[in-house]
This record gives sequence, structure tokens and C-alpha cells, in this order.
Amino acid sequence: MKKIIVIFNGGTISMKVDPKIKAAVPSLTGEEIMHMVTGIEKHAEVISYNFSSFPSPHMTLEKMMELRAFTLKVIQDDQPDGVVITHGTDTLEETAFLFDLTIDTEIPIVFTGAMRSGSELGYDGPSNLAQSIVTASSKESRNRGVLVCLNGELNAAQEVTKTNSLSLNAFRTPTFGPLGIVDNNRVIYYRSNDIRQVHDIDHLVSNVELVKTVAGMDSSYLKFLVDKGTKGIVIEAFGRGNVPPQMVEGIRYALSQKVHVVIVSRCYEGRVFGSYGYEGGGKHLRNMGVIFGDALPGQKARIKLMVALSIYDDPEDVREWFEKDLYLEDSDNA
Ligand code: ASP
Repeated sequence: MKKIIVIFNGGTISMKVDPKIKAAVPSLTGEEIMHMVTGIEKHAEVISYNFSSFPSPHMTLEKMMELRAFTLKVIQDDQPDGVVITHGTDTLEETAFLFDLTIDTEIPIVFTGAMRSGSELGYDGPSNLAQSIVTASSKESRNRGVLVCLNGELNAAQEVTKTNSLSLNAFRTPTFGPLGIVDNNRVIYYRSNDIRQVHDIDHLVSNVELVKTVAGMDSSYLKFLVDKGTKGIVIEAFGRGNVPPQMVEGIRYALSQKVHVVIVSRCYEGRVFGSYGYEGGGKHLRNMGVIFGDALPGQKARIKLMVALSIYDDPEDVREWFEKDLYLEDSDNA
């Protein structure tokens, strides 16, 4: 029998509607949720911990690091075969990606949550939890990095994003689709995710900001961020990684002040590349010294830049680690 740890960490999965407020608030304990996960004892011996019950918009980088330390400790102390962590769905992808980038373990770590609270018809918490426990118990889930399991779909923490504010299949991997599924307690993987970066950290450089590009945007916001002492800026640029020419001055200013700039796309699918050579085009920015963030959404590129800055100081090392296996060294090819 596999030993699985479940760490309860809040989110809608632990909420019910408060009759006075007429809206969902934290109210269910880990034990109460586990009582609804009937029949799981046939698949695994489950040990539960209540870490927190907060909604995930209350998640901070400090709390992420506390949850990370707690997770490492239970892996060390209890020697489980797998770990399941509940999380509010709003910021789940950010915490899951931080864990994926910084926890080097063979055992499965599976994040889950719920899109409907315990007061709603079709509360998906218990089934998501059951499927996550089954996933964490499967030997097929080992060495795949951190996984996200909701609605019977298995996505890689590195690739997944919340794509819908209310539907049960909100967690999806744009372009490539899920890694696998859980069907009647059977865990099936259809593909692997081979490009992964893992590096242990003992602190997190959290001073990294995210800017979304819009038509006609200028450099004032970028300059403000540099002057307030930010260490890194992720820019969600247009399409292939292009910005309005008025933003170029701000990017140049950031780079001159040793602020790292990562370019990703505000498009839902596809990655950035140096396709355009006009002023503000991806190639122009690349030649100035920006880092390319592949197909990551801005909120996840921000987490990756924080991790890179927690490991390296030198801009070339930061770029090399960030872009490993994604872009060729030769800038003519990026
Ligand atoms: N607002 C909730 C949270 O992130 C949403 C959820 O858990 O699904 O905590």
C-alpha cells in the first residue's frame, strides 16, 4: 500500500457559502474534506496535514516558501510515496511552478483544488482529491516534475494555466494539451514533458514585476519600476515578442541599471522569438540584451525569473539558465 501525504492549504476546496455574506468563505477542515473522499483507503494510506485554509489570492511569496519548507520537511520525515497539496485555483499555477523549478525529487507532487465550493451542486473537491491521491500513488507519475490534477486531467505545473474563471476544466495546457488523464482510478500518460529546469534555492528574490504591453504604451511605468529598485521585469509583449517603439527607451534604461528584462507574449498560445527587426521588434529587443521566456504566461515567467535571480547574479548566467534548451546560444538564431 502506497503512503500518500495530503497537505491541506485552503482554496475553494475548503470553502462553503456563508448564509449571512451569501458568498464562499473558508470553512472545511482537511478531516471534513477527507471524509467525503470515500473508498480511497483501497488505493493508499493517507496522512493529512492542515497547513492553512486561506484563499489563494491571499498567497504571498513568503507563504509559498513556507509551504515549500513544510513540504520538504514532510517528505524528509514521513518518506511518502507521493504528496498531494490543495491550493486555491487563482494562484495555484504560480506555487506549483515554483515547486517544480526548485524541488528535486522523484516522488510525485500533485497540486489540486476545486472550482466549486462545498455548498454548490457538483462540488468537485472530493473527486479532484481522490484522483490526485491516485495520481500521487502511481509509479507512472514519478520523475515527471510537479503535476496539477483537476477534472480528471493531468497537466505539468510548468505548462498549465488557469484558462477559465468558472468551468470545471479550467486548468489546461495551451497548444500541447494535458500530459494524461485519470480514468476510473487508472492513471494514463500520453506524452512526457522533457524540457525542465530544477534548482534548489534557500531564499527567493521576490522583487520582480510584471508589465502587460498595450497599444501606444510608453516607458514611464518601466522607468518607475527601475527607479523603485526592482531587480527584474517581465514584459508580456505583443505576439512574437514585440513592443511599441516608445517602450524601447524604458527597456534600455532597465538593462543599463542591471535590471533583468524577460519578454513573453500576451498571446494565449505560442512562444516569443526574434522574428521582427523593426524598432521594438523581438530581434531588436534581443540584440539589446533581453531574455526570451518561451511560451510562459507572464505570471509564471515572473516566478522563473525570481528563481533564476535567487541562484545567479551574473546576467549571462541568468539568461543561460532561463533559456536552457529553449533558444540557441547564437543570437542569430533567437
Ligand atoms: N478564489 C479561490 C481561491 O483561489 C478560487 C478557487 O480556489 O478555486 O482561493
